[in-house]
Amino acid sequence: MIKLENISFDYCIKCTVCTIYCPVARATHLFPGPKQSGPDTERLRIKNPELVDESLKYCSNCKRCEIACPSNVKIADLIQDAKWRYLKKKFRFRDYFMSHTDLVGSIATKVSALINFFMSLSIVRFFMEMFLRIPMRRVFPKYNSRTFQSWFRGIKKSQSSFSKKAVYFHGCYVNYNNSSLGKDMVRVLNAMGIGIEVPDEKCCGVPLIANGYLKKARKNAAFNISSLQTILSDDTTIISTSSSCSFALKYEYAHLLGMDNTKIFNRVEYITKYLYNRFQEGMAPKMKPVNLRAAYHAPCHLERMGGVIYTIDLLKKIPGLDLVILHSECCGIAGTYGFKKEYYDISQKIGQELFRSIERAEAEIVITDCETCKMQIEMNTPYEVIHPVSLLAKALDQ
Ligand code: SF4
Ligand code: SF4
Repeated sequence: MIKLENISFDYCIKCTVCTIYCPVARATHLFPGPKQSGPDTERLRIKNPELVDESLKYCSNCKRCEIACPSNVKIADLIQDAKWRYLKKKFRFRDYFMSHTDLVGSIATKVSALINFFMSLSIVRFFMEMFLRIPMRRVFPKYNSRTFQSWFRGIKKSQSSFSKKAVYFHGCYVNYNNSSLGKDMVRVLNAMGIGIEVPDEKCCGVPLIANGYLKKARKNAAFNISSLQTILSDDTTIISTSSSCSFALKYEYAHLLGMDNTKIFNRVEYITKYLYNRFQEGMAPKMKPVNLRAAYHAPCHLERMGGVIYTIDLLKKIPGLDLVILHSECCGIAGTYGFKKEYYDISQKIGQELFRSIERAEAEIVITDCETCKMQIEMNTPYEVIHPVSLLAKALDQ
């Protein structure tokens, strides 16, 4: 039976703008590009699944083709869907390990010193490349010794004194790898007179979706939707410091997982949009000059959500910040894509233009909203990469 859940391919006007914009098609001849892999062959695939083309696997789901498309064709969604529907899936321990972030993170934070030490050893990385096909040169983020959730339990009481509240979906990266970003966010919001509530949450599902664990991704999505609905009151917003988590909660749940997220859809806001709006309402905290020249890189998923403008306008409000806005480029890592040996060279090639433009900016620091963009830039340039919220926390005059 022909399933027509995404008929947006019918609106394709064959302009090929998406193919020009696709960073993977530009980096390798192995991928024919979004037009061919998306709308062009979708008609064939739904008639005869045997006509599926293996090259689909090279799509990194960066969504840049969807940003460029004038006809609003859900190109990346078509490709992702076809990948899972028609390509044969092989079990790989590496993909399981990289996508089950709650399982791995909750174990790793308990033995973080040991894990961080082992992951820094070349010999361990050599065997990881040999047996797991994770490139030796790829740098992994360090694990926290304590989860953000556990830290938050200690300060939860202090948040009840605020009359205005926001619900914080912190995501795995803050919980297991960079709890200081979550702490910075609490500081910034508290300085604006806003308290935080933290729901019970599971991984948003982005790495599960990318690695084809759709059943588990749907289970996590159902848990998160229900948990967020329970904690929401009439005027609260669900905020996230991860552009990818926000994107998943708002769009991937409905488009790729077929979940009903209507009750939370209008409430989810990426943090910079939320902060920008509060600043406009006169709630900006007192800030001191940061005296810093910084280059800003916009992540693809934030561009897709139309959220870049809020980050830039918010950053412009930080006193003493000399901001260089980099030309829009994909960094190449695309979540777990750049952690896989088979895509590593493509991922590195894609990022070259961005790395060069960072060098040209002659900044002291790089700013970006996405955790994996941070990993990719820090691995390929000598610069520290900071989240806009952490920079705001530095600027607080307290
Ligand atoms: S999602 Fe990214 S990699 Fe995939 S086709 Fe679109 S632009 Fe290319
Ligand atoms: S940009 Fe959109 S309309 Fe143009 S070829 Fe690609 S899918 Fe078709």
